[in-house]
Amino acid sequence: MKAVYLESVQKLTEKELPVPRPGDRQVLVKMKAVGICGSDIHYWHKGRIGPFVVEQPMILGHECAGEVVEAGKDVANLAVGDRVVIEPGVPCYTCEYCKSGKYNLCPDIRFFATPPVDGSMVEYVAFDADLVFRIPEEIKDFGLATMVEPMAVGVFATRTVKPALGDNAVVFGAGVIGIVCMLAAKAAGCAAVTVADIRDDRLERAKELGADNVVNLKTDTLSDSCYDIGYEATGAEACYALASKCIKPGGKLSLVGMGPELQSLPIVDFVCREIALLPSFRYANAYPAALKLLKAHHEKLEKIITHRFAFSLESVDEAIRTAYSDPTAGKVVVDFQ
Ligand SMILES: [Zn+2]
Ligand SMILES: [Zn+2]
Repeated sequence: MKAVYLESVQKLTEKELPVPRPGDRQVLVKMKAVGICGSDIHYWHKGRIGPFVVEQPMILGHECAGEVVEAGKDVANLAVGDRVVIEPGVPCYTCEYCKSGKYNLCPDIRFFATPPVDGSMVEYVAFDADLVFRIPEEIKDFGLATMVEPMAVGVFATRTVKPALGDNAVVFGAGVIGIVCMLAAKAAGCAAVTVADIRDDRLERAKELGADNVVNLKTDTLSDSCYDIGYEATGAEACYALASKCIKPGGKLSLVGMGPELQSLPIVDFVCREIALLPSFRYANAYPAALKLLKAHHEKLEKIITHRFAFSLESVDEAIRTAYSDPTAGKVVVDFQ
């Protein structure tokens, strides 16, 4: 089988590997689609994200969907022929974080395409069956199914910030993560969600996908003390300053975006206004809910996929370059045969 590796910064190579054998509790998944994520782009562009540094060739990709072609003897939840998505992090199951359900914080989690763990830009993957989920019938397109992964980020962030029924929410960032946060906030009972960004085309897409209001921060402002909760999905320093003003005293801000490692925050404003900063990292136990949300919005979400490429070394390279450099790109998907 073929696998596409990040060989070194901005250099991909292709390798021929043996098809893996599934363990007793694993399934063998034939890959059908892999979405390009911001983290793939970061590793390709810079070779690192914060403490995670690519030191040896690594297979990229973690947003993936495929078909079960073999099941280990102890697998009860899946069968050959099932169309599935893979939750891409395997935790240790035994540490205090795993035992308390916060397995996203497991120090030994092996997460696809986080160095040194290989990802899913490969034709077959053997994976723990309890982290593999059936795709709802309504979702025909494997490419769309890969969006369950960012959706899980939105679901998990929303569980962390816990909106109350009728809340007003603001989302900074109209990229894929901003969109999924908006959808999750609405599903969790927010009455109105405003999406703020600096690009009109992205804001238009956010509106089409269900944002109640959109604000272009280049030309417009957010009213003071207007929102009960917020999501920071850009990583841009300026958004923290805006959030400290436009979120009501006693409100909450979900931190999802990953910007520069060191940033200036108006901490005194956050303290004096008692705005809780609630970080959320990846997700835990969020895939089932994310699949339901994806099913509910699958027709609209097709609009987020702007580019598709067929799996090959050249196309993966083009897919990543497109996701990196084309400002109109939404979700870029690589389709397998
Ligand atoms: Zn992702
Ligand atoms: Zn653990």
